[in-house]
Amino acid sequence: MIKVTVWNEFQHEKESAEVRAVYPNGIHNAIADFLRSDEIEVRTATLDDPECGLTEEVLKDTDVLIWWGHIAHDRVPDEVVARVRTQILTGMGLIVLHSGHHSKIFRSMMGTSCNLSWREDGDLERIWTINPAHPIAKGVGRYFEIEGVETYAEPFGIPEPDEVVFMGWYEGGEVFRSGCTFHRENGRIFYFQPGHETFPIFYHETVQTIIRNAVEWAAPVLRTPGLKCPNVKKVHKTCKD
Ligand code: ZN
Repeated sequence: MIKVTVWNEFQHEKESAEVRAVYPNGIHNAIADFLRSDEIEVRTATLDDPECGLTEEVLKDTDVLIWWGHIAHDRVPDEVVARVRTQILTGMGLIVLHSGHHSKIFRSMMGTSCNLSWREDGDLERIWTINPAHPIAKGVGRYFEIEGVETYAEPFGIPEPDEVVFMGWYEGGEVFRSGCTFHRENGRIFYFQPGHETFPIFYHETVQTIIRNAVEWAAPVLRTPGLKCPNVKKVHKTCKD
């Protein structure tokens, strides 16, 4: 059983009827609904919950954290970000969706601006699987299309990814590294570009397959209880007859 926490800042849905029409129960519940299964246990957390719903207890009981944020990145307290960061380094997986590229946690894990160019006009995106043997690409096919996305364009201000799994092409001609992986100590991170709040992208079957695959990929292989830098005793040579 993989334990997933879906975190959504949950502000657009409260403020905009247009967004509410697409995600009446919030983006977090739309994601939780397709992830929940015999293999995946899901809880949700939002910005307005006490401590953003991300207490030490919740994080230690989370194998993979999914992050969606956009207009309220700066309202996530630094101590919450530090707590999440520590858990990633000890082995918790992180999946950052769409505008989460500018979240404090993603920028902290990347160490760069994570800037990109963007245009919100509902272009078609054709997402190419450029690493078809990667576990996150399982069952996806050579490419798939999403009708109506927010264009994100290169250059994307991230460090060189460990793997680029998907490359996005937009009908405006731009390209973008739409699916990238990073390893940070014990933790695995997947960034996935689709997911603008006014488009029904989290109902797209292939998008759901990819996020499900990413949960399996990002689940901890090794989870240490904390971060340590121990002084250790020498291992003595053993004598064998
Ligand atoms: Zn967006």
